[in-house]
Parts: sequence; C-alpha cells; structure tokens
Amino acid sequence: MISDYDFSVANRFLKYVTVDTQSDPNADRFPSTEKQKDLSRILVDELQQMGVADAHLDEHGYVYATIPATTDKKVPVLCFCSHVDTAPDCSGTGVKPIVHKDFDGKDIVLPDDPTQVISIRQHSYLKKRIGDDIITASGTTLLGADDKAGVAIIMDLANYLVNHPEVKHGDIKILFTPDEEVGRGVEKVDLAKLGADFGYTLDGGKRGTYTDETFSANGVTVTFYGISAHPGYAKGKLVNAMKVAGTF
Ligand SMILES: [Zn+2]
Repeated sequence: MISDYDFSVANRFLKYVTVDTQSDPNADRFPSTEKQKDLSRILVDELQQMGVADAHLDEHGYVYATIPATTDKKVPVLCFCSHVDTAPDCSGTGVKPIVHKDFDGKDIVLPDDPTQVISIRQHSYLKKRIGDDIITASGTTLLGADDKAGVAIIMDLANYLVNHPEVKHGDIKILFTPDEEVGRGVEKVDLAKLGADFGYTLDGGKRGTYTDETFSANGVTVTFYGISAHPGYAKGKLVNAMKVAGTF
C-alpha cells in the first residue's frame, strides 16, 4: 500500500537535474544534442535495476519500457510520457538544486545570483505551497523541472508498481523523449512499437491539474502579399506587405 512506500520522486529529481540535457533549436541532427542521452542512459539503467527488463534507448534517443500487466483481464495499454531535454533559453550546465524545507512564504533568494528572487507577490500559487518543501535552482541556471519532474514521477511510479504487484493493471508503456523544447519531441516516435492505446504526458504546471485538450503549436506559416505600384501614382494604391504583417 502507499503508506508503506518510500517515495523516491524527490531524490530522483535532485539527481536528474544535475545532468545537462539542454536541446538545441539550431541543430539539424536528431537528437539535437548528444548529451540528452546521458540522462536517458541513466533512466534505462535504473529501470533495468527495478526489473523492467525491456527498457532500452533507441538510436534516436528515445527510451521505451514496459511495466508488464498484473492482470489477465483485457484492458487498454496506457503510456506515460515525458521529455528529458531542458529549454535552450537558459543554461542547463552545472545545475545545483536547493531544497527549501517547509516553505514559510517568505521570498526565496537564490544564492548564486541574489537578484533572482522567487516571491509569492509574483507567483500567487506559491501561497498554496506554504509548508511544503520547494526545490529551486541556485540562480545562474534553469532548474529543469520542465520536464525532469515528469521524468522523476514516472520513474517513481514504475518503482512503485514493480514493487506492488497486488495493484492490478494492464501493460504500462513508458516513453521518454528528447527535443520536446525545440518542437521535435515526437518526430521519431515509433507508435507501432510503443503499442499504447492511450497516452498521458506528465509535463504540467500546478499540482492537481490536468489538461484534456490541446493543439499543435509546432509552427505556422503566414504569407503577406503587398500591392506594388509606381511611386509616382502609388498614393492610395501601394500596400506595403510589412505594414500588413505588422498590423496582423
Ligand atoms: Zn515540458
């Protein structure tokens, strides 16, 4: 039962964030950076140590694994997915996570850059987390909670299920992807190999919330046409495409 289970999610998270897995929007190769596989290899090792025998890293940098069913009943195959890469906007090298125990609601000043202050004034959601432990970066890097929090949760879930065969479930597929932050996370997923009927991405925000509808924000191309006219007679006729784009 849950009550006798020693949750490993926080410790896993603290370990995973120290592995630099930043992706690169300017790279042509896949995955965009080789270092993303550093974490993926750790995940495969840990899954195999748990007894998730088919855990493996494919040539594109995806981790696939199956937690075998504990029931004979025919039930849908579920997939839990998250991404190992972190955003290119801020350094992911040398991340030093800090656990702020029993958050008291006061400003959290990040020690390596004291101008970085996390406060309830700016993030009202934090008010709900008073009394909780808060994990932050040290001030000069991102933390990488997006999406190593999701990775750590899935790993802890796997560990829990493997150790609690009395919890009945069908096959559960685990998928860790590279390059989500650069819009290419699912580009080379082999859905047939994954073999899931339904999938859930753990890549959210506030605790206790979920999103049940989304759209592809991968990219959109908008073309603006101007109207050219000889400047001598252009008054009221010439339309500058840049101005139309600006208005848009
Ligand atoms: Zn994310």
